[in-house]
Amino acid sequence: MPNNEKLAAIQACIENRLAPPAITARRIAAVIGGAPSRYSKSPALWNAAFGRLGIDAVYLPLDVAETRLGVLIAAIRACEVMLGFNVTVPHKQAVMEYLDELDAGAARVGAVNTVVRASDGRLIGYNTDGGGFVDSLLKPQPGRDQSVVATLQDVNVLLLGAGGAARAVAFHVAGLLHGGELIISNRTAGRARALAAEIKNGGCKARGIGEDELALWAPRAQLVVNATTKGQGGMRQLPDGAVTSLEPYSPLAPACALPVVAHGGDQDAWRLWLEANQAGIAANNIASRKLAAAIPPGAVFYDLIYYPEETLFLRHGRETGHPTINGKAMIVNQAALAFRRHICRAQLQAKGIDTGETYQLVLETMYNAW
Ligand code: NAP
Repeated sequence: MPNNEKLAAIQACIENRLAPPAITARRIAAVIGGAPSRYSKSPALWNAAFGRLGIDAVYLPLDVAETRLGVLIAAIRACEVMLGFNVTVPHKQAVMEYLDELDAGAARVGAVNTVVRASDGRLIGYNTDGGGFVDSLLKPQPGRDQSVVATLQDVNVLLLGAGGAARAVAFHVAGLLHGGELIISNRTAGRARALAAEIKNGGCKARGIGEDELALWAPRAQLVVNATTKGQGGMRQLPDGAVTSLEPYSPLAPACALPVVAHGGDQDAWRLWLEANQAGIAANNIASRKLAAAIPPGAVFYDLIYYPEETLFLRHGRETGHPTINGKAMIVNQAALAFRRHICRAQLQAKGIDTGETYQLVLETMYNAW
């Protein structure tokens, strides 16, 4: 089999086993990250789209440590059957140094989530996170007549967070606001102010604030976006063996999660951790509920997180009468953009189906495969 040798080189760089269909598929795409084989929805979404369009390709998760990233990228570059790959945590920034070309949008955001392998092996990086976010808000989604919001023109947006996802959202949203303002709030206020300054340099209205200024600015927002990790489900193991979580917190108020060391398994760790953080969680939740109620009715609460499906932020939004939307819509839209505009573009062109209809079909198929 011609794929075998090249795939063996890829297998040698990763921590999970390549699925057998990789050996026989005519073309391959992938997602590279710390451990996408354990949680990523992308293989299900992409493989469903390949099947629906009759493209003989398979999409694989590749779990790679940062120390092996360079050799994995070299192996992908040498593998002619590779169409390209997506990039997820924690490699969205680190991958950039191994690419031959960077799209201007990805360069501005400072992160790449999509890489196309050209036929000569050159690797070109893009970022579809911001585009996926905006599409999920402004375009009617499959099965819906209307978009979540009709326009972002003259809308004040409160963006919570200033990390990679927040940057992708900020650069895409800012140019659509016209008379509206992008208010960026972050635990580390300096990062919010620095991002706001970059946005202002591009000629758009933006302001960076700290979490202590949220009560003043949140009531002016017509769209509130959580791009922090506050509310993310599950426990996180720290390098020193302690565990912590951000799940019971809302990004509308400060959170100071104290780590605990536990020895009795997951249940015991969760119980101990909740006990240690009870007072802080209660304070966060009370402040969040109060602030949610002060945000004008009709303002949309959008959480980039999709696990749990309803975070505390979304629950407080819903309970105070606001429309809510979680991160599933953004993931599906960024994947459909990566599929049609970048990784599979040449395949679609060769089949004569690089059209808006194909895009809608891919979007619908990916939603159904979730
Ligand atoms: P990141 O670069 O690590 O940024 C994390 C953000 O959360 C920073 O603003 C950070 O503030 C803040 N934060 C972390 N811990 C905090 C705490 N205890 N209190 C207050 N703020 C805290 O992460 P990212 O890549 O931007 O991802 C952010 C979230 O978006 C994640 O939950 C991710 O799963 C989600 N996401 C979803 C999609 C989608 O398609 N739906 C795409 C990308 C990301 P500091 O600057 O102060 O540290």
